Amino acid sequence: MSTFQAPKGTYDLTPPRSATFLAVREAIAAPLRDSGYGYIETPGFENVELFARGVGESTDIVTKEMYTLTTKGGDQLALRPEGTASVLRAALEANLHKAGNLPVKLWYSGSYYRYERPQAGRYRHFSQVGAEAIGTEDPVLDAELIILADQAYRSLGLRQFRILLNSLGDKECRPVYREALQSFLRDLDLDEETRRRIEINPLRVLDDKRADVQKQLTDAPKLRDYLCDACKAYHEEVRALLTAAGVVFEDDEKLVRGLDYYTRTTFEFVHDGLGAQSAVGGGGRYDGLSEMIGGPELPSVGWALGVDRTVLALEAEGIELDLPYTTSVYAVPLGEEARRALFGVVTGLRRAGIAADFAFGGRGLKGAMKSANRSGARYALVAGERDLAEGVVQLKDMESGEQSAVPLAEVEAELAKRLG
Ligand code: AMP
Repeated sequence: MSTFQAPKGTYDLTPPRSATFLAVREAIAAPLRDSGYGYIETPGFENVELFARGVGESTDIVTKEMYTLTTKGGDQLALRPEGTASVLRAALEANLHKAGNLPVKLWYSGSYYRYERPQAGRYRHFSQVGAEAIGTEDPVLDAELIILADQAYRSLGLRQFRILLNSLGDKECRPVYREALQSFLRDLDLDEETRRRIEINPLRVLDDKRADVQKQLTDAPKLRDYLCDACKAYHEEVRALLTAAGVVFEDDEKLVRGLDYYTRTTFEFVHDGLGAQSAVGGGGRYDGLSEMIGGPELPSVGWALGVDRTVLALEAEGIELDLPYTTSVYAVPLGEEARRALFGVVTGLRRAGIAADFAFGGRGLKGAMKSANRSGARYALVAGERDLAEGVVQLKDMESGEQSAVPLAEVEAELAKRLG
């Protein structure tokens, strides 16, 4: 070990587990790419105001969890705590919404940072794959995104997840509900901080995990009873589309989520094998966000799925992904001359698109074959001086143990044939 360790709340991805992370990212991205979502990448940090305004001044993410910094030039920046505000900022900056092709459908993958109290499944650096559909108000779009996330999880083999669904109303009906909720909450027996929250963001009080608070909330006014007709119809349509697609969901009136920008459809994917940090992904509609960050009216919807927790969910369900061999062929030279010859073969294989590795460092047969085994390669190529004198290499099938001599000039074609 060196003098240094990964900072608190972070961890390194190292082989072989890191391969699962790549596979999870790929599994989430694939259905998006197949559905018209284009890849977007934004900086790891932004002007701190973007998140303050976009995510919300009253949220934990902004008040407690942001990594902020002042540059030598005096700019106030923050490491990105989430993806949506950045993606929308970038789409507006590039005028993607003016290209006459709405919605603008984008997907992204990257690192996010929150100064949280670390625990299992909750880190200060974590990884998300996300999707945003910008500029269109259409329940089909909300349904599409939920269906694509469901498809991604299912393609990984996950089964013990549930989809929670709710509607948060819009700028017509939410304020009416907000006031009703506030007057209900003000009469309860709550601590100072929660009382403050009632005034800033009362919906989030519903999210309080403490049993004594939850007990007092039993008779709280329900958002469902306050939804305007347009919101009700919209929500019913989303529900009907999901049902038609065979996607099972649960109505969860308490689902408000930790970010201020959500309107109408909100949803969360929870996994039952993860303990307290059970949310593997979530998202919703954010019709007002563009205007909040100085853009035009652009109703949008999106989600972000956590890669770290998805990997934990796979482990909880005991799912081992069928990862492709990273190395197909492993070359073991015996002697100086064989080193040159086999390295030439390996270079040729790689150029032909066959994944190949090599026993470096002039090691003996036994140690080198151990490495060949550990590499997961299907075939080993072994050659010593006698083989070279005969113009052949020994090709060993690592699964069956069978070995045969193949002329040097034919190795590449033979392996290409066997590996299909
Ligand atoms: P959010 O942006 O809070 O809705 O988070 C979306 C998803 O990102 C969550 O469902 C988690 O899977 C993941 N996530 C959020 N915060 C963390 C964290 N601190 N550590 C690990 N994963 C996280």
